Amino acid sequence: MTQTVTPRKGLLDIPLYVAGAAKAGHANRIIKLSSNENPFGPSERVKEAFAASGAALERYPDSGHLDLRSAIGAVHGLDPARIICGAGSDEVFTFLCQAYAGEGAEVIHTEHGFAMHKICAQAAGATPVEVAERERCVDVDAILAACTDRTKIIFIANPANPTGTLVPEADLVRLADAIPAETLLVIDGAYAEYVRDPDYNGGKALATTRHNVVMTRTFSKIYGIGALRVGWGYGPQDVIDALNRVRGPFNLTGPAIAGAIAAVQDQDYVQRCSIENEVWRDWMTKELRGLGLSVDPSHANFVLARFADVAAAQSALEALTARGILVRNVASYGLPSGLRITVGTPEECRDTIAALRQIVGMRT
Ligand SMILES: *Cc1c(COP(=O)(O)O)cnc(C)c1O
Repeated sequence: MTQTVTPRKGLLDIPLYVAGAAKAGHANRIIKLSSNENPFGPSERVKEAFAASGAALERYPDSGHLDLRSAIGAVHGLDPARIICGAGSDEVFTFLCQAYAGEGAEVIHTEHGFAMHKICAQAAGATPVEVAERERCVDVDAILAACTDRTKIIFIANPANPTGTLVPEADLVRLADAIPAETLLVIDGAYAEYVRDPDYNGGKALATTRHNVVMTRTFSKIYGIGALRVGWGYGPQDVIDALNRVRGPFNLTGPAIAGAIAAVQDQDYVQRCSIENEVWRDWMTKELRGLGLSVDPSHANFVLARFADVAAAQSALEALTARGILVRNVASYGLPSGLRITVGTPEECRDTIAALRQIVGMRT
């Protein structure tokens, strides 16, 4: 059979998404700090709700996610009618690109920005446009300079992944003020709950008041239910209505909806995890700098350690993996001399720093 059926033009150029490592050779204990998961897992209330949801597996879930949208709206002070839920926020990015950015459209993402922004644009047939960052920070002026009359979407993760940097609120407002009226600004707040900066609102102020700003959130990070795949977006009513046209019915499973409702209602747990994360994020930053590595201040639940060169990062990655410590190689993000390390439990953080002290020490 030499004949093949050809996929749509450009489709095979899309790089496959590479997930953080999950396995390490023969190490008997694995410390997984490669995917920014909550090291404490979900709250007890989530585990109970998820277990209870197993009693009605024959039932289709609520296709419109009304209870989940209402719970999110109540907790965040948002209109549930202007919320859309997806199988992870990745699915919301897909809806956005399908609805607003087909063939001929340009979608802006930033130099070290999250891989799925670009992948979703390409999958919809749009042209991704990469915009340079300044010292690993999103550069609002460079984004404005890259806008054309074909720019349909601008994706910014704030805090950014894998850099952990934050765009100040004033810059976001300046960006929203100056983008073309026909362009959607998507503020991806996957790490919003980790930000301790009092000025930060995760895009809520803009998504509430502007006709062309959408914010997204996820249950995969601080809420600790990446396995259930739930994310959401909030924006102008007409945008949410358009996204609902491309959303398949029943895109979230019943157990996922039940788990997410319990998760969003347990804000005490979120608060405790965020405070604990801040303590150990700052400790990791200080310790890594003490080992001679460069680390920007992070606003998320990971730190990006920059080594002297690519070889040093690569050998540290291998030595950590051999000890069962999995961190993220970020070469595909244009940061080949960096390693992204999720903030783990206190014990995991201490063990990782102790291992790196040995590894870095052996090289000098
Ligand atoms: C992890 C992450 C997401 C979340 O993706 P889900 O599909 O909701 O699991 C979104 N954006 C960024 C920048 C992330 O790092």
